[in-house]
Parts: sequence; structure tokens; C-alpha cells
Amino acid sequence: MLQYLSLFECSSWLALTLARYCRLVPPTRELQRNSTVAWASQPASQRHRAGHAPIPWVADALALLAGIGLGIAIALGISSESPSLLSSPGGWFDAVGRLAALTGTYLMLVMIVLIARLPWLERTVGQDRLVRWHRRIGGWPIALIVVHVVAVTLGYAQMTKSGPFHQFWVFLRNYPDLLAAIVSFALLIVAGVSSARIARRRMKYETWWVVHLYMYLALGLAFAHQIVTGVMFLGHPLARGYWIGVSALTAGVVLTSRVILPMIRNARLQLRVHKVEEEAPGVYTVTLKGRQLSRLAVSGGQFFQWRFLTKGLWWHSHPYSLSALPRPPYLRVTVKASGDQSSAVGHLRVGTRVLIEGPYGTFTKHARTNTSVTMVGAGVGITPLRALLEDLPGDIDVSVIIRASRVEEIVHRDELEALVRARGGTFHELVGSRHQVVLDARTMKQLAPRLAQGDLYICGPEGFTERVVDVARRLGLRKQQIHYEAFSF
Ligand SMILES: Cc1cc2nc3c(=O)[nH]c(=O)nc-3n(C[C@H](O)[C@H](O)[C@H](O)COP(=O)(O)OP(=O)(O)OC[C@H]3O[C@@H](n4cnc5c(N)ncnc54)[C@H](O)[C@@H]3O)c2cc1C
Repeated sequence: MLQYLSLFECSSWLALTLARYCRLVPPTRELQRNSTVAWASQPASQRHRAGHAPIPWVADALALLAGIGLGIAIALGISSESPSLLSSPGGWFDAVGRLAALTGTYLMLVMIVLIARLPWLERTVGQDRLVRWHRRIGGWPIALIVVHVVAVTLGYAQMTKSGPFHQFWVFLRNYPDLLAAIVSFALLIVAGVSSARIARRRMKYETWWVVHLYMYLALGLAFAHQIVTGVMFLGHPLARGYWIGVSALTAGVVLTSRVILPMIRNARLQLRVHKVEEEAPGVYTVTLKGRQLSRLAVSGGQFFQWRFLTKGLWWHSHPYSLSALPRPPYLRVTVKASGDQSSAVGHLRVGTRVLIEGPYGTFTKHARTNTSVTMVGAGVGITPLRALLEDLPGDIDVSVIIRASRVEEIVHRDELEALVRARGGTFHELVGSRHQVVLDARTMKQLAPRLAQGDLYICGPEGFTERVVDVARRLGLRKQQIHYEAFSF
């Protein structure tokens, strides 16, 4: 049921209704089913706002800030200990337990900030890397909270001269204040287990996501437990104030970037499905119409989180890259039916309301290091390349290589070809079965002779991308020259 508590969803509805009520947003007129947008021939409007460039120092600055914050938290924690506390029975166990809890909870806050979808962090580091960092830190809070539970139990057992199991039972039965902490601990373990690679593979994405929502509840309960019972906060107003400040700041960051900003943007954009067309077998192009799209700053190659407000889809959002730069008042994505949500996209009705979050991603012209670019795409991975191609400066030398089993599977084929031709680049299609047509080092060198001197952008199925990256590395490209977008986190 918690899925229905999606903050973003509820608040976006509220904002749209309020905006309508206050007449900030006029009602959208009935959409024309048959009107067409000439994506290929019509250049992206001059009025389209260019995407923001990454801010190179932002990740280092944030890491420094997080490190300083942790240092202050630990220093305040240590200063609240005293020789008498430490020398009492079980004193050292308790102290270790308290510091472990403090550090573990702080790291949980850092993990939350990493996936809070802060726009400037997203466009500098990229969501895939942020998710990787989030996962990498993930084991530590769990380990530290386990240390906290074990150490505090041992400490109290020493103090009361009883066994640890008996002491744990006493905690459960006689300490009502600890209930919140125990529930929080259980939720943390469930989230940790569900995040293990093996469990994630067996779980539906939506199930995993809902389980993860419980982490916010776990943090809220842990916060209450710390502030009400934490020895290092009782009688230490500075430590208490600091901890409340850090927690409130994290909550504010999440609320602003996940709720308030998307709410304002969606109330302004008023996006609705304008047209759905079958692009290739099982691949649908969805054109959306909205207001003030010229104010949407986005780079070719970036993606948004899309939430289609229909009965079965409204509660979960999915990432899809733009398949062309916006042409106000239109926006476009191309979606391959692969699971529940993406398959339902092909059946969306004209006029369906759509909410977006973003833009996100670093697979853009800003990642480029040279004046020559090679693009390699396959499957629905062609879509961000199509938008990126449109966004590259006119003087860039471009080679595009598309891999497909059948010609009909190449999405936006004519548009790609026209765009490449218009800029005097080269366009190659490698069509056939994997065994007959191989994209190896020799073929790559033949098709893109300047590959090693330029940048390589790849987007396609996971195995395909890995193979192309491997070939590129063997051909001498440095890591900084290779850019790819993975279609799963
Ligand atoms: C950055 C990015 C850009 C993408 N761009 C496109 C695009 O332009 N066109 C296109 O057809 N597909 C794109 N995808 C893939 C698309 O998001 C998934 O195919 C879609 O979410 C599958 O959802 P489902 O319910 O249909 O399938 P499910 O069976 O629920 O999911 C299939 C797999 O898709 C991934 N997935 C599902 N939901 C999400 C989510 N909310 N966030 C991240 N991964 C998820 C998971 O790996 C999951 O195992 C992109 C993915 C990413 C990460």
C-alpha cells in the first residue's frame, strides 16, 4: 500500500488541481489526433533552451562537505563521552555502539542525498554513477547499525550482569522507547537484503522500489530513537542541534528536488500525450504536447523520468531518453515494449496527462573532448544518439554506425540518415545476424577511420555496449573518450 503514498505523485496532482483552481494554468485544449510534427525536416526551434553544462567541481565540493559533516558528527559524539561513562561496566561497548550508530545513520543520509536527484549533481556526475556510489556505500550503514545493536546489547548485559540474549529480550519487552529503533533496524535489514544483486535480479523493479521507500520510514524512526534516547544528545544541546540540522537539511534537499521543483515544472508544462505511433516492431514513439517547453533546458542524449497518469501506471515512473530535441510545444520519446510499463506505453490514449522529472544524464555534447565523434547504436539505444546528433555543434565531424538484425528494427532511420547527411558525416548500417555481421576492431576502424582521435558515444543493449567499449579500448581510446548510456541502473 505504501506505493500509494508516493509523495511526488500526490503533490503533483495537488499542484495541478490548485494551479487550475487559481487559474494559473488554463485548461488544455482538446488535442488534435492527426496533427503531425515534422521531426526530421523541421530543425529544433531556436527557442529551445540549451541544456546546462556540468559543473566539474561539484562532486569534489559535495564529498568535502560530507566529509567535514561526518568529522563534526563524530567529534561531537566523542566529546559527549566522559571517563566515568567509559569506566562504568559495559562503558566501552556502549561508546562503540553509539559511535557506530551515529556514523551509520550519517552515511544513510549521504546515500539519500546521492539519489535525491539534485539537478546540478545529476548533470555533472550522472544518475548511473550516483546510483553506483549509493550502492557502494550501502553495506556500511547496515554493518555499523548491526555493530550498534550488538555492542549496546553487550554493554547493557555487562552492566546488568546478565547474558546478551536475555538482555536483548529485556530490550524488546521492557523498553518501549526502543520499539521505533527495532522497527527501523528490521526495515534496514529488509532493504539491504532486497538490494543484494541476487535478490534484485529475482525481484520486479517496482517491488524493489517500494521496499526502498520504507528506508525513509526507517530513517524517521531512527531519528526519533536517537533524539529521544541517545546519550550523546541528552544534555548536549550543540550535538542535538547539529544532528537535527543535518537531518532537516537532508529532508529539505529531498523535498525540494523530488517534490517541489518537479511539482512547479509539471504545473507549468501541462504535458499530455499528443500522438502514439508504432516506429518499429514493438517500439512506439510518443509525442507530447505542453506549454512553455521553450523554457525547458535540456541537452540531446539526456533522459527524464516519465509518469503516465493512467490507471495502472500513475504510481511508478520510468526513465526514457528524448529521441529528438524539443520542438516547442512538442517533446518526443521512443519506447521499446520490454515489461509492464513500457508495453503499456503503446496503448496510451491521446490526451493522457504526463509528469516528468529531469532532465538527467551526462550522455551529452558536454562530455565531448574532441572535434570528431563516432556514434555506435543498436536497438532502442539509437534514440538518445538521434537527439545528441541534433545537438552537436555543426563543425563536428560525425560517423554513425548502427547495428541491427533487420532493417525494420532501426528506429528513426530516415531521420538519422538525414541528420548525418546534412552535416556531411558518414552513416553505416550493419544489418544481419550477430554471427554474420560482426562489429569487431577491424570493422570499426574501417567504418570510422578517425575513431581513435575522437570521442565515441555508445548506446545499446548491455552486452553490446560492453563489447564496443572493449573494442574501443583495444583500439587505443582512453576512458575519457568513451561515453555510454546504460538503459538500466
Ligand atoms: C537512463 C535510461 C534511459 C532509458 N531510455 C530509454 C529509451 O529512450 N527508450 C526505451 O525504450 N527504454 C529506455 N530505457 C529503459 C527503460 O527505462 C526500461 O525498459 C523500462 O523502465 C522498463 O520498465 P517496464 O515496467 O516496462 O519493465 P520491467 O520489467 O519493470 O523492467 C525491466 C528492466 O528495466 C529496468 N527498469 C525498470 N524500471 C526502471 C526504472 N524506473 N528506473 C531504472 N530502470 C528501470 C530494470 O533494469 C528492470 O529490470 C532507459 C533506461 C535508462 C536507465
